[in-house]
Amino acid sequence: LLEAAGITKIFGKLTALDGAALTVGANEFHGLIGPNGSGKSTLMKCIAGAEVPTTGKVSFVNTDITAFTPTERARAGMSLKFQITSVLPSLTLYDNILLALQAQSSLIDLLFSRTRDALHEQVMTMLTQFRLADRAFEPAAALSHGQQQWLEIAMALAGKPKLLLLDEPTGGMSLEERRVTGELLQPIKQHCSLVIVEHDLDFIRDICDRLTVLDQGKVLASGTVSEIQANKAVQEIYLRRA
Ligand code: ATP
Ligand code: MG
Repeated sequence: LLEAAGITKIFGKLTALDGAALTVGANEFHGLIGPNGSGKSTLMKCIAGAEVPTTGKVSFVNTDITAFTPTERARAGMSLKFQITSVLPSLTLYDNILLALQAQSSLIDLLFSRTRDALHEQVMTMLTQFRLADRAFEPAAALSHGQQQWLEIAMALAGKPKLLLLDEPTGGMSLEERRVTGELLQPIKQHCSLVIVEHDLDFIRDICDRLTVLDQGKVLASGTVSEIQANKAVQEIYLRRA
């Protein structure tokens, strides 16, 4: 589904990414891990189009998208939390989802194939899926930090993307909220792949099929969760950190 190869990103004198690569299959949950400053966010941005790589190539659904804008990438089926819409705190959860649906659907879709009832149904289904239905008509500002993150993920999924990119979605969440986040993400695997950056290794181990480990802008290792856990070089990095 996604193939990023030979991605180098240089900021002035700093080489943030040095020939990094990432391959993600359909319906795969892929974790991107590594120490602070290893280039995880920069690689996510290069994939989403928020940063232009100095060199390298990004393919998505067998198309070279290296020169695509973020909007063109979104249209091709890639979704990044924050990319298209972000939570408007004074609007209700319901209206936030409705806006996200509108922003990520074609006008034709909205005009012809969706009645008001169908739209309502769709908004409520998404809120139910993220355990927010009982708060549908409260302003988004009334949500806890964790619930706001869930609302954002729901909004990022409104356009039915093929790939969702999440950079540290559980940052600032309680242990319980993290656990629920893992549960909420599982069902999307049926129609969507995921690239997720996380510092919580237990969390990422539980939800991901495969992992890529970055260190100083390079891929240190990439493989299944058990392969990565058995990898000596990866263990060393995490021992160093501990
Ligand atoms: P963290 O775990 O702390 O989020 P990260 O792995 O996401 O780290 P990046 O944010 O990708 O790391 O940063 C990689 C390196 O590139 C860092 O040294 C960072 O300071 C630098 N960097 C990132 N963005 C920019 C920028 N816009 N301009 C200059 N340097 C940048
Ligand atoms: Mg980061």
